[in-house]
Amino acid sequence: RGQGHASIPEDYYSAAPTSNATNTERANATFVFLARNSDLSGVIQSMRDAEDRFNHKHNYPWVFLNEEPFTDEFKKRVSVLTKAPIEFGLIPKEHWEQPSFIDVDRATESRKKMEQDNIIYGGSLSYRNMCRFNSGFFYRHELLQKYRYYWRVEPDVHFHCDIDFDPFLFMQREKKVYGFTIAIYEFEKTIPTLWNAVKEFAKAHPQYIANDNAMDFVSDTAGETYNLCHFWSNFEIADLDFWRGDAYSAFFDFLDQKGGFHYERWGDAPVHSIAAALFLPRQDIHFFNEIGYEHNPYTHCPSTAGDDKWTKGRCACDPNRSFDYDGYSCMRQWDRVNAA
Ligand code: GDP
Ligand code: MN
Repeated sequence: RGQGHASIPEDYYSAAPTSNATNTERANATFVFLARNSDLSGVIQSMRDAEDRFNHKHNYPWVFLNEEPFTDEFKKRVSVLTKAPIEFGLIPKEHWEQPSFIDVDRATESRKKMEQDNIIYGGSLSYRNMCRFNSGFFYRHELLQKYRYYWRVEPDVHFHCDIDFDPFLFMQREKKVYGFTIAIYEFEKTIPTLWNAVKEFAKAHPQYIANDNAMDFVSDTAGETYNLCHFWSNFEIADLDFWRGDAYSAFFDFLDQKGGFHYERWGDAPVHSIAAALFLPRQDIHFFNEIGYEHNPYTHCPSTAGDDKWTKGRCACDPNRSFDYDGYSCMRQWDRVNAA
């Protein structure tokens, strides 16, 4: 499905179920895991944590995506880790490769320069393809069409606590659209012209900007400048219909035409985050405080304060080393949004 599939389905605002969650009540949801065959050992680590801490009680399916076919070895090694259904999908070339409207020489030149500037992944074409895919294409993959919610997982992450509730049912019941565990600053050199593009889009399409939005999460100047804050998208639990909807579809196409995924190194994290912050009412975005999560080098570890989520969750992380109020964290900006 392409751009045509952009309208929000009729049942989007229908009432969420009212009964209490049980292990048999399920949301229409899946894990989604983009990976290379060479990521196998890290994939196993992440999947094992997700299964042990949550999914062995729920058996939500797993969807693995790759622009190359997964090897039999890969399929065999991940298949033993879950009782849930697993599907392996091939990403179509037109969802992955540098699009034809990109000036190849300009893109190559820019990678060279960013590599010399020691910008992380600055010289990598595949990393750019990956960021563009995660920004605008993963939710269009045929294997994801039947699902409403997804949980993104990456290699070598850790889920440090028991997850004794169903985050998908929570999203559904509370009508949440985007869920995160870590908020952090972006490297400015990867996105020098992104905010100008965002402002241009917002000016041309004011109807997409939500009234009660979270602009103050991404801007300290009421939208004039980007403060580099974003939700760290290696963890995401979100509603696929948001990406499939009119606002985000138009936004992605607009950004894509600017070429910034390849001329600069726009990440899917700032792109997703800016869209969520501008197009959603702020209460549609949820911080999953009780989900202990680590992606090198940062960890969100639940606190022992208040209702002691750390003890309840049998957490294996150090609560004194949670990233939340580290100097490089954007939780302060998130709190500011919520306090407003
Ligand atoms: P980082 O977290 O930004 O350092 O980047 P990662 O190396 O973890 O890549 C982000 C995600 O994209 C992970 O799930 C990787 O497995 C996946 N990924 C990165 N590059 C490629 C690629 O070239 N092909 C495929 N199939 N997956 C990739
Ligand atoms: Mn990663």
